[in-house]
Amino acid sequence: SVLADQIAAGEVVERPASVVKELVENAIDANSTQIDITVEEAGLKRIMVVDDGDGIADEDAEMAFKRHATSKITDRRDLFRIKSLGFRGEALPSIASVADVTMATSTGDVGTLIHNVGGKIVTHTAAAARKGTTITVADLFGNVPARLKYLKSPATELSRITDIVNRLALSYPNVAFSLVHDGRELTRTTGRGDLRQVIAGIYGVQTARKMVAIQGKNPDFTVRGFVSLPELTRASRQYISLLLNGRYIHNFQLSKALIAGYGSKLMVGRYPIAVLDIQMDPVLVDVNVHPTKQEVRISQEPELTQLIQETV
Ligand code: ADP
Ligand code: MG
Repeated sequence: SVLADQIAAGEVVERPASVVKELVENAIDANSTQIDITVEEAGLKRIMVVDDGDGIADEDAEMAFKRHATSKITDRRDLFRIKSLGFRGEALPSIASVADVTMATSTGDVGTLIHNVGGKIVTHTAAAARKGTTITVADLFGNVPARLKYLKSPATELSRITDIVNRLALSYPNVAFSLVHDGRELTRTTGRGDLRQVIAGIYGVQTARKMVAIQGKNPDFTVRGFVSLPELTRASRQYISLLLNGRYIHNFQLSKALIAGYGSKLMVGRYPIAVLDIQMDPVLVDVNVHPTKQEVRISQEPELTQLIQETV
């Protein structure tokens, strides 16, 4: 029901950035090589994600808006073998229940256009057969004004969107991403697979050039990536990105170790720009499967923090 979808939406779709995350992850799951994101008014007016992925067949397109209809988990054990980013089949129905959503999609032959308002499909017609999917989310939370009250300033909501797009771009260097907000291009990556190029697409060519490649290893971990010199810093930790086996993670202790690696060379309140990829045996990671979190627990974390600090 629409109500159940709205309740689920409270979990999955907290803010504009969560919509961007879900839509872009779907595009990645659909094997896209190019994902273009356009946002207006920090996402509240409009969020559009255009991909060149597999698309959805016309006969399956309405199902994509039905909750759990698409869940890929058939067995508890599947939780440990998840390859795709989506596995709950509730993002699209949740988003559709709190916005005006248009989906144009094609697997390459016929094209489909579905318009969904407040959780109900209002039209399903034919469209151009361009392979891939375009999803437009307009008037987000327009029908649940209470949610709007929980949002932060447009600048903060926008920075959360950029953060999500940037970390997905870092995790998928082979996918070309672009992010445009109110006509201004904020990120553009090439999809050529090179981490320094992704950094250039996010932080600018000048910054990327000034970053230093680092690498270190011990018997359990290899860390490699790029860090800024102590003179190139920012006033926030937000410019430190950690990847674990190529996937973006949050881990306060590891960020702290990276900062500690600079010793006394950083001025108070200043933080480096850094992208660090940690390679390790996946059995040593405990990934919290909460839908929206990237928190992970790592066994032998003290060993890893020491390696990071020393490598930096
Ligand atoms: P989930 O990603 O958890 O499966 P979603 O609600 O996010 O659930 O999406 C529902 C389904 O719609 C997906 O499983 C997928 O089959 C289809 N889908 C959504 N977005 C796209 C896309 N951009 N390209 C192709 N298929 C998509
Ligand atoms: Mg999904």
